[in-house]
Amino acid sequence: MGQNDDDKPNTISRREFVKGAGASAAALGGVASVTSDAARAQQNPYQVPEEWDLEADVVVIGSGPTGLPAAIRARDAGASVIIVEANYDVGGHGLMNGGTIQLGGGTKLQKKYGIEDSPDTMFRDLTDWSVVETNGMPDYRFNDRAVQRALADNSAAAFDFMEENGVRFEDIPPSTEGAHATGISAPRAHEVTWNGIQGAEGPRGGGGTGIYRTLEVSARDKGVRFLLNYHMDVIFRESPNGGRVLGVQAGYTPRFLPGESTPMKSFHSKGNVDLTQPHVTVKAKQAIVIGTGGSTGNVNFRRIFDPRITEVYQLAAGPYSDQDASGEMAAMAIGASLWGTANQSLERNGYLRKRPIIGCQYTYLYYTPDSILFPFVRASGLRVRSWDSLVLVNQVGKRFYNEEAGSWPYGTHHGFLDPYVQGDWRNARRIKYDPQNFLDAALAPNEGSEPPDYAAGPVWAIFDADAVPRERWDLSPPATDPLYFFSDQTLAGLAKKIKANPYQKPDMPPANLEATIERYNGFVDAGSDPDFERPNLKYKLEKPPFYAAWATPVVHDCYTGLRINMQCQVMDMHGQVIQGLYCGGESAGGSSQHGQGRCVTQGYIAGGHAVKEPSWG
Ligand SMILES: Cc1cc2nc3c(=O)[nH]c(=O)nc-3n(C[C@H](O)[C@H](O)[C@H](O)COP(=O)(O)OP(=O)(O)OC[C@H]3O[C@@H](n4cnc5c(N)ncnc54)[C@H](O)[C@@H]3O)c2cc1C
Repeated sequence: MGQNDDDKPNTISRREFVKGAGASAAALGGVASVTSDAARAQQNPYQVPEEWDLEADVVVIGSGPTGLPAAIRARDAGASVIIVEANYDVGGHGLMNGGTIQLGGGTKLQKKYGIEDSPDTMFRDLTDWSVVETNGMPDYRFNDRAVQRALADNSAAAFDFMEENGVRFEDIPPSTEGAHATGISAPRAHEVTWNGIQGAEGPRGGGGTGIYRTLEVSARDKGVRFLLNYHMDVIFRESPNGGRVLGVQAGYTPRFLPGESTPMKSFHSKGNVDLTQPHVTVKAKQAIVIGTGGSTGNVNFRRIFDPRITEVYQLAAGPYSDQDASGEMAAMAIGASLWGTANQSLERNGYLRKRPIIGCQYTYLYYTPDSILFPFVRASGLRVRSWDSLVLVNQVGKRFYNEEAGSWPYGTHHGFLDPYVQGDWRNARRIKYDPQNFLDAALAPNEGSEPPDYAAGPVWAIFDADAVPRERWDLSPPATDPLYFFSDQTLAGLAKKIKANPYQKPDMPPANLEATIERYNGFVDAGSDPDFERPNLKYKLEKPPFYAAWATPVVHDCYTGLRINMQCQVMDMHGQVIQGLYCGGESAGGSSQHGQGRCVTQGYIAGGHAVKEPSWG
């Protein structure tokens, strides 16, 4: 990815930008002056700065599906806006995604194709207690009513807003593709077209990149400023648990490709604020919008909701985009409340997913060697065409479930129940129970689960030489990563080598792996698997060399976060609004639906309300 030089003339220097900043915070309750970064670091980090490095009416944290719409909406209303983004480039998980977006309530395309939907229908769908997943997960029961009402009321407007800012949707009827937990009454998944800014695909290319590169260009053209490579760590408030928010502090987080000494650069630079100092304070005269994407990448934080999700589980958008709970933690430090945690604790909607890519660390997306991220990714992985050739074992070399079983259900959508009568108690009775416990078995403690966490550890796909031509695999790097893929002439030797993986804590007992494969081969001969009732038993594993490929499930979505109200204002532990603080997307609680539809809509809502806050400086 290169720098787009055409953008440079509008780049804003620090000096230009700071002009006029520096209003005293003391009048608002901030105390002693801060003289330098070094002094700041040693003092109370929550002490309000006397002088600010930068300022804007609205400060948006994160440039993903929540942040970009929030910034554009606030800028459209005349506010000065700065986005603080930890990464070297924009988009977050949004830049990596497939581009299907779930919107409803009567979007232009729903109307064009005669699909009946309205804000009322969507609201009732998203709060329908009677819909239950096949594994018993109630998709909508724990949704916050006010948050869903606001989403339903603004969803179609968010579609129009995206179009107005250059996003192009495919002119096809909305479908159910990826519409996980977005309600049953109407199809709500819209596809975007990649309206191609040549060479701007970034780490992935395709749908989501098409949306967020387009919104980025619109934001930059409208005058939104971007402070990239800065990670927001502190939100300043008038007093620790009272008053309005005043601004943020962010630390410098440049990223370097391995062996490089020049930081990675954003594709576009128009509006970039070029700073490299260790810390920057940014005054928010009206509001702060948190769009930091949730907590899937913070092991301790995500384990609050599901203690099983230890560090072994990698992030779906890795290594481009993290979701490290920093928005939640900074807001909680000034009194904010979490909300709707059941949506994340219960087993549903693909928050953890089994993946058909094995043998590398990042197994969600298939990275090719021409990706800018490949030096971090190191290997593309092997695509599994059929599980027929594989046996999955845990960290002690034992099978734990039928290998062909899938993840927990991904969420209900149009067509899931037929008939479906909104709110009818019979809906719950119509569901055929099917627990789909592959992930539960993978997460269960086993003989290798040791103190302090008694964690389940990695999952390994074991196969033999005969599987390779069947699956049409080329096993050599960069298809496979030497730390996530092993081979040996014997199963015993293979078990010993697996210990080189950084997440494989116990030794895998060689005798276990040998016994597992011998028993499995016996099941193939007998044509039945009494242990796990795997239906297809086609191939024995007997021809050396033998292989072990990383096949551990991946963390995908976040369904809990900060408590917000209908305006996306963040609320404290007493149910009171924290004045000037907003949040949306995966960092916000109260919504169980997958994907960027709710993020874009909440960014749109938050940006629209943020500009109504009184200015303090
Ligand atoms: C591989 C993949 C495929 C997907 N496919 C789809 C799909 O097809 N359709 C769909 O609807 N959804 C899809 N999703 C989900 C969708 O992408 C997310 O729901 C969405 O991106 C979340 O948006 P967000 O704004 O909440 O956060 P994010 O997209 O995570 O963006 C958060 C941004 O904030 C930045 N940030 C975080 N902390 C800080 C901090 N402290 N300071 C400064 N910046 C910070 C991050 O760097 C990032 O840029 C997919 C997700 C993944 C991972």
